[in-house]
Amino acid sequence: MTIFCDMHTHSHHSFDAKSSVDEMCRAAIERGLEALAVTDHCEAPFIRFGADCEFGCFDELIPQSFADATAARERYAGRLKVLRGLELGEPTHDRAATAHALAYGDFDFVLASVHNIRNMQDFYYMNYSGVDVDGLLARYFDELCETASFEHFDSLSHLTYPLRYIVAGTGRFPDLSVHADAIDTIFKILIKNQKALEINVSGLFKELKTTLPDVTLVRRFRELGGQYITIGTDAHSADMVGRGIGEGIAVAREAGFSQYVIYEKHRPIKIDINE
Ligand SMILES: [Zn+2]
Ligand SMILES: [Zn+2]
Repeated sequence: MTIFCDMHTHSHHSFDAKSSVDEMCRAAIERGLEALAVTDHCEAPFIRFGADCEFGCFDELIPQSFADATAARERYAGRLKVLRGLELGEPTHDRAATAHALAYGDFDFVLASVHNIRNMQDFYYMNYSGVDVDGLLARYFDELCETASFEHFDSLSHLTYPLRYIVAGTGRFPDLSVHADAIDTIFKILIKNQKALEINVSGLFKELKTTLPDVTLVRRFRELGGQYITIGTDAHSADMVGRGIGEGIAVAREAGFSQYVIYEKHRPIKIDINE
C-alpha cells in the first residue's frame, strides 16, 4: 500500500484558515497519514505592512507557525512526521522581503506560489466578467516562469491556480493549449533546477473538479524529464487534511510517476506509489 503524506496545509496562522496545528496533526493521524507539512501563507510583498497587512502580521504569524510545527514534531514523533513548511507567495516581487521570510525558521519545505500578478489583486478576489482571460493567463504564466527560476524553494505550488477561480467565475474552462510553450518553459526550468511540481488536489472539491495542474500537464512534466512531484491538499481546516491525497497519487501514477516525494530539510525523500 502507498504511504499517504500531505505536503500543503494551512493552520490558523494563515489569515484564511481556522484549525490549530495540533488539530491538524490529530486529523492527519486519524486518516492514516505518515507525514504532514504545515505550510502557512507568507505573501512576501506584504510583509512590509506589518500589523496593518490585510493578511495579518507575517513577522508574528510565521514564527508562531514554525514554533507550533516544531512542538508538534516532538509531540507526535513516531506517529506522524511533522514538517515545518512555508507557502511563500510571490517570492520574486520583493527579494529582500523574501530573504526575510526565509529567515523566519529553518524550514523543511518551501512551496513557491503566485496568487497575484504584480500590481493586481489575488485571482481569488477578481471579477472575470469582460476580462481577457487569455491575456491574464499569459501574464500569470510569465510570472510563474520567473518564480520557477527563483532559487530558494522546493516545489512549485498549484501551477494552474487562476483556473480555480476563472472556472468558478465564468463557468468555462480556458483553453490552456495557447499557453503550452510558456508551461513547457516553466517545466524545463523546474527540471533543470531539480525542483518539484506540486499536484494540488484542492480543485477536486471545487467547480474545477480536477487537480492543479491536471493529469495532462503532470504527464507533460514527466515527458520533459520531471522527477519530483509533491502532493498537497491545500487544506484550510483540519477536516480537509489528507482529503484527496489518494486521488493525487492516482494522477501521479497515471502521468507515469512511480514515486512522489516529501521534503525534510529541503532534501527530497522518495515514496513509492504501489497498487
Ligand atoms: Zn496558494
Ligand atoms: Zn495554500
